[in-house]
Amino acid sequence: MTTDPSDPAVPPDARRLPVVDDGVDPRRLAEGPREECGVFGIFAPGEDVATLTYYGLYALQHRGQESAGIATSDGSRIMVHKDMGLVNQVFTPAGLAAMPGHVAIGHCRYSTTGASSWANAQPAYRESTVGSGIALGHNGNLVNTAEIARMLGVPSGNDSGLMADLLARDPDVSVEAAIMEVAPKLVGAFSVVLMDNERVYAFRDPHGIRPLVVGRLPKGGWAVASETSALDIVGAIPVREVAPGELVMLDEDGMHARRFAPATPHFCLFEWVYLARPDHVQAERSVLFSRREVGRQLAREAPVDADIVIAVPDSGRDAAAGYASESGLPFADGLVKNRYVGRTFIEPTDSLRQLGIRLKLSPVREIVGGRRLVVVDDSIVRGNTSRQLVAMLKSAGAEEVHLRICAPPIKNPCYYGIDMATRAQLIGADMTVDEIRDYVGADSLHYVSLQGLVDQTPMAMDELCRACFDGQYPIPVPDEHEHLAQIKFDLDALDA
Ligand code: SF4
Repeated sequence: MTTDPSDPAVPPDARRLPVVDDGVDPRRLAEGPREECGVFGIFAPGEDVATLTYYGLYALQHRGQESAGIATSDGSRIMVHKDMGLVNQVFTPAGLAAMPGHVAIGHCRYSTTGASSWANAQPAYRESTVGSGIALGHNGNLVNTAEIARMLGVPSGNDSGLMADLLARDPDVSVEAAIMEVAPKLVGAFSVVLMDNERVYAFRDPHGIRPLVVGRLPKGGWAVASETSALDIVGAIPVREVAPGELVMLDEDGMHARRFAPATPHFCLFEWVYLARPDHVQAERSVLFSRREVGRQLAREAPVDADIVIAVPDSGRDAAAGYASESGLPFADGLVKNRYVGRTFIEPTDSLRQLGIRLKLSPVREIVGGRRLVVVDDSIVRGNTSRQLVAMLKSAGAEEVHLRICAPPIKNPCYYGIDMATRAQLIGADMTVDEIRDYVGADSLHYVSLQGLVDQTPMAMDELCRACFDGQYPIPVPDEHEHLAQIKFDLDALDA
């Protein structure tokens, strides 16, 4: 959507917004933050590891829908199959059957750096170390990619490919030794799964920004994944997280761990708001439980005289149930989500763009008509979707729309792997809550407080990255327009 000041339907204060062509690409329909990759690894002799990895990725599909890939090894060679598309579009039963082995990793990708292309799909394979190649899958985003690229003498692009290049560049160094040497020098967010012919390796940046959890398979063997939901689907029992700054290795002798850097935890607060699946368990608490409690917190912070509570599906659903429970208002399904949104490769056209939010959500007139609604949503990024949502509910007969948001205003971009927007596109960056309320056309608007949100997670404020809300970046980031070259990186140290 474009804010056109000459359009009488656009309120005067919309002119304060930058003009943004928020064209609706059916492949990237959600205006909200986009997830940034899911990773999975498994060591399981005697099991069909390719198919188990397929199911692991299937459970992680929400973290990346642009490309998917699996690498397997039978102990003598690594096979990689990857392509653009969803997990069930990339793999067939026959294709999986042609990937034998007892070691596998998998990856589903949303591109936050590097183009959305086959070449950047993962796992990234490199001929490498003593007797084996490596395959790598990465969730996160490095902030010193330019320096790494300069050191390697290659164009800067996909941070994950560059990481694979670094780890594979010395043929006389074991994979374990290469990780122990390189990982401390990577700057940014990285939850990585890697394999050679015999082992799965998993390592996580010292801040532990993205999740990574290890599980044990009932018949022996191990799995590692971005979320516990991917362990659940293959029958693995979650054992523990890969600790921030830790390397974990899974092989026939079991699980081994080494630390490559001290832990300074800053887990991404947004994983609780939006990114992780509700059944993911982090620090012994399910995301669903936390989201429900955020809804209760919203009801305490911003009660309102209304008739019903509805959710913006899917991520607003648990919080809406919490709001309803705390407030005593009835909960109803006032919005229906098209389950197949994002599963098409139809190119966006002008007529599709005009459909806007209607491609994704439909109001149930019998429920919203003539009622005062509390509408619970996970977050507001640019504000255009919220504006369309409020207009759609009112045109369906809603008397009042009171927006309740499960995150504080997003004021800053994310450099650690979540594709939100640039600062200029963030409506929370330079508008007050009242101005945003007027822009989206709601009768009232309340964002949960930062402390109110943090209190519903199992972690303390100083253990969390919340930079997109409060600007406190735990890892130094480049100036937005001066880009990554501003980060100092000790190239000599990498060669040491
Ligand atoms: S800036 Fe926001 S989205 Fe990015 S890692 Fe920090 S809390 Fe998560």
